[in-house]
Amino acid sequence: PALTVRDAWDARVAAAPDATALVYFDARLSARETDRIASSLAAALAARGVGKGDRVGIHLQNTPQFPLVLLALWKLGAAGLLLNPMYFGRELRQIVDDAEPIGIIATDVDAEKVRTSVDGSSAGWVVSACAADLQSRDDPRVFSVDRVEPSPDGDLGALISEYTDSSVPSTELTATDVALLTYTSGTTGPPKGAMNSHGNVLAVATSFAEFGAITAADTVFSLAPLFHITGVVLLGALPLVTGAALVCTGRFAVDVALDALREHRVTYTIGSITAFIAMMNSPVVTRDHFASIRVLFSGGAPVSPSTVQRFQELSGHYIHNAYGMTETTSGVIAVPPGSAAPVDAHGTLSVGVPLPGVHAEVVAPDDTPVAPGAEGELVLSGPQIVSGYWRNPEATAATMPEGRLHTGDSAVVDADGWVYIVDRIKDQINVSGYKVWPREVEDVLYEHPAVLEAAVVGVADDYQGEAVAAFVSVRDGHRVDGDELVAFARERLAPYKRPKTVAVVDQLPKTQTGKIQRRVLREQSTAKKG
Ligand code: ATP
Ligand code: MG
Repeated sequence: PALTVRDAWDARVAAAPDATALVYFDARLSARETDRIASSLAAALAARGVGKGDRVGIHLQNTPQFPLVLLALWKLGAAGLLLNPMYFGRELRQIVDDAEPIGIIATDVDAEKVRTSVDGSSAGWVVSACAADLQSRDDPRVFSVDRVEPSPDGDLGALISEYTDSSVPSTELTATDVALLTYTSGTTGPPKGAMNSHGNVLAVATSFAEFGAITAADTVFSLAPLFHITGVVLLGALPLVTGAALVCTGRFAVDVALDALREHRVTYTIGSITAFIAMMNSPVVTRDHFASIRVLFSGGAPVSPSTVQRFQELSGHYIHNAYGMTETTSGVIAVPPGSAAPVDAHGTLSVGVPLPGVHAEVVAPDDTPVAPGAEGELVLSGPQIVSGYWRNPEATAATMPEGRLHTGDSAVVDADGWVYIVDRIKDQINVSGYKVWPREVEDVLYEHPAVLEAAVVGVADDYQGEAVAAFVSVRDGHRVDGDELVAFARERLAPYKRPKTVAVVDQLPKTQTGKIQRRVLREQSTAKKG
């Protein structure tokens, strides 16, 4: 069997060279064509000094150039450093200074700005890979890589044509070599770099495909961003190694995504729950958009049972919850297709069961196992878990001693093996000694028809130590005020769990991966008070 993503890709090309690998609006590339372009690109990058163990930054949205660049880097034994394409200046520089890539690949319009941002860093060049603003089939630049505006350092199209038929230097590659350098979302603190090896990426791609019965017959839509772990592994690498076709449509836009699902007869995708909420709220959405879907997953953040139900009523499809972290190389616990996840007494929707090869334990603060059904920290091990953080031995030793990843999430495993994520341990609220999990309060607020999104945090309180404070945004066409929501929660929660205040805001603060940042709300509340 293949040990690296590169081996698995080579096997796929050999098995079905003419099968479609990449789709971008109306343009298609077969596996053979994809491999040829990736080889030319690899030769070009080798000429720019890229070799085994190097990092190259990828500053792109969901375009076919993204997997092409990854394949080229893997041919050379180099790792793809995922960069958020919305980052410039300080945000970009922080990651580049930590990861030290030797070059960066960006879109034509962003290349110059990226270059300015990383001036004087390790990144010696910025090559433009594709036009930035492709959002329609009518755009003549779709896939014509030679028509992008060249960056001063060159562009992908020119490189590919210059290096067509050049040979790629052969490099030894093993399962422990780094395939991706990915940064955590920064929900709880500064992002940390996780070194996802070839073995890790292959383990997740193959175990998730097996779990979801995703095969070469499937068509995959890249709903989650490829610049984050869920997207790059479960939408990027998974079709590359299973032989499925990957459909890209650039940056997420609700109506473009809906069109792509219908038009390309998409069978599988995974996205943030935020993306599903956005599709559900689109004025143009119909059941028909989801007619070809076989299985949908949502990953990376809590999902409320009422959202899943509302989406199923609209689309006819159940959203399968999946749990994973940057450090687990994306989803490693998920709801098996065809089954609906149970909801526990607190209203928490299960994240499913461990994928093949994943070992999940729940432990007490002293790291001893808790009784079945009891709450504790979720600890994970298996071939999907990274061996460490990039240049951060302290964080590695603290978080994953002996290969056991302490997730920082509080969880329960029931008698049937279903896993429930209670909440982030750090976000627990202490009201006069009573422990409140924000999730439970948020799930109650989500039951209100006017609530679009909700976030609950603990704020300092002179009397109770901490008090429960809620923040909500409102669905289009609805109106609600804080007092009404306080009363709504009062009828559904024990006194100490009830939010003291509910603030209605335009938008909740989010990470670029769409996660609500309670940390920011907490900081804002403290600042206001102090
Ligand atoms: P940072 O580690 O930088 O603070 P982060 O933990 O949000 O950021 P990620 O690795 O993107 O970075 O996210 C992993 C976390 O996301 C998990 O530890 C868990 O708290 C949360 N999570 C992921 N999937 C789910 C899910 N299905 N339900 C609930 N929480 C989830
Ligand atoms: Mg984390």
